[in-house]
Amino acid sequence: MPQARRSRAVRPPARAAALPRHGGLTVPWITGWFDGRPYFGVNFPVRRVQCVVHRLCQFCRQPLGRRIGLVVRPADLAVGYVDEPGMHPACLDYAVAVCPMLNGTMDRYRAAPPAAVARLVALTASRAGLPAEAYDAWYITPSGYHVAYGPDGSVLGIRLDTPVLLKKPLRAAARPRLTEEHAARQRAVIDLEQLPARPEG
Ligand SMILES: [Zn+2]
Repeated sequence: MPQARRSRAVRPPARAAALPRHGGLTVPWITGWFDGRPYFGVNFPVRRVQCVVHRLCQFCRQPLGRRIGLVVRPADLAVGYVDEPGMHPACLDYAVAVCPMLNGTMDRYRAAPPAAVARLVALTASRAGLPAEAYDAWYITPSGYHVAYGPDGSVLGIRLDTPVLLKKPLRAAARPRLTEEHAARQRAVIDLEQLPARPEG
């Protein structure tokens, strides 16, 4: 899940109460940590596979229910699967409310994290620094949930050739060039990310 920003107005779902917090935000279970701080948008590869295979919510780690939310980009449609695991609808709502990539207030994928972090938790390096794509939320049912495997048996993600209950646009694609105003806003968001970790209750 892409990086999040400070927002105190939105409350996380109750089932996520046990998750750690950082900068006032609930940190998704799948999010990678390094040196005491989370890297929003950088996922633990083992947790990603666990979620996809065992039908767990990437946000709260609990089993998915009768409605499963997926975040789908045009690039996912092109390959026929999403590599990110599903979420409870309430967990997806929270993620959209606080995540600038998902709700469209950030125009570019964050720059690549430090090399040590990239080694520890696999990075979707191909997206780093690129303009954001459009995001849709898809809602599927357990009977439509199928894991996509690679030719070598690796877990690619969740297949998209399945019945969809509802498709909801989350954000439009970013314009290819940033205005200076947008660039300044983006730098401000990334600077927020550089703040040192501080423990929170
Ligand atoms: Zn959840």
